[in-house]
Amino acid sequence: MIAEEMVIACCTDLAGKVRGKAFPASQFDKRRSRGIGWTPTNAQITCFDTIAESPFGSLGDLVLIPDEAAKVRVELGGDVPIEHFALGDIRHTDGRPWEFCTRSILKCALDRLNRASGLTLFGAFEHEFQFRNAASPIGEAYSVNGFRLERRLAETLVAAMRAAGLEPDTFMREFGTGQYEVTIGPSRGIAIADQSTILRELVRFVAHALGKEVTFTPIRDPAGVGNGVHIHLSFLDKDQPGTWDPNGKHELGKTAGQFIAGILKYLNSIVAITAPSVVSYLRLTPHRWSAAFNNLGFRDREAAVRICPVSDLSDIAKAAQFNFEFRAADATASPHLQLAALVHAGVQGIEEDLPTPDATAEDLALLDPSTLAARGLVRLPKSLPEALECFLANRTVTEWFPAGFADTYVKHKKGEMAFLEGKPQQEICNLYEQVY
Ligand code: GLU
Ligand code: MG
Repeated sequence: MIAEEMVIACCTDLAGKVRGKAFPASQFDKRRSRGIGWTPTNAQITCFDTIAESPFGSLGDLVLIPDEAAKVRVELGGDVPIEHFALGDIRHTDGRPWEFCTRSILKCALDRLNRASGLTLFGAFEHEFQFRNAASPIGEAYSVNGFRLERRLAETLVAAMRAAGLEPDTFMREFGTGQYEVTIGPSRGIAIADQSTILRELVRFVAHALGKEVTFTPIRDPAGVGNGVHIHLSFLDKDQPGTWDPNGKHELGKTAGQFIAGILKYLNSIVAITAPSVVSYLRLTPHRWSAAFNNLGFRDREAAVRICPVSDLSDIAKAAQFNFEFRAADATASPHLQLAALVHAGVQGIEEDLPTPDATAEDLALLDPSTLAARGLVRLPKSLPEALECFLANRTVTEWFPAGFADTYVKHKKGEMAFLEGKPQQEICNLYEQVY
């Protein structure tokens, strides 16, 4: 059969999906300036293919401009079609960034960080996922045999990551049924979110090529284990590590402490963006090693922000190892929006000169609300509607985003929830499992 290679210009959207349009790869240079046509109401396509209330209706035109720096071309060989796509920015036809372009929203947040601190964000998303259509033997958590069962996928994935410019780090059989975890090396600024998007697509691509199906859904069954996205962050100060201070509280530098304090202060109001689906809130419950409170943990896996371990044995200097991870996130969100919300909250903490929070070291689920409140701790919203209410009610937070964004985002999520109305919990889980 004859074939001509195509490339997809794409972006992450309000539903956390990656959507785009393909064109002949030979046209890439032309499309880098010209872009491809895009429709405003696409922002309101929910993850269930319904269209939520849209302020745009049938009106308007935009262009999606693929970015050479976020282009991926991976040839697996055999008869597998070449994977070729490029993330890009959505602009008005006069070139202005579109208010609902997730990548432009993140760029704006990163500029704010740079203005407020002179620092560059450095980090990586860590992902957990599960196989859907493969029998998952019991007794394989963390096991060599569990790895062996997916060695082919793991090694193909590592080669694909390498070809896509991602730095492979680890791959392991996680604890949950058919659950695996993949980590990559850190990158800077916008590339942190781009690489998370690319990684998710590569996992799907390789799984598809091998006849498997994976899901990144936050939770498949409330009785089971969740799939987290842990967002590892640190700072570079003129190319040097800028997060660690051996004399700082919890060894955090002043700015890093302020940044984390900002995330925790505003977490209640941004969790609708970092964990944005109905099932996200089945995962964000105590004793799941996810996050149920706005707490800082020092090496504690049940904290919204966890200071990660450094090792004296490593060949990497302590200052360069030192990072913290945000755990109240999952893969139903756009990585670009997640990171934008975190960066804005962090910069807000810098601007408000917030002190480095105390780290918790006990089971917060056992404390009563008044004890929690006295320590500045709150239980995170227990449902998506509650999270959306907290988001809309916080003017500081909604004003980080372009005009009209917050209202439209909430309408989007209401459209998503309307699709699920009246459905039993397990069916809702099954639907999200199909979609992500
Ligand atoms: N599966 C857990 C989550 O939902 C994380 C487990 C871990 O610490 O790796 O976030
Ligand atoms: Mg894990």
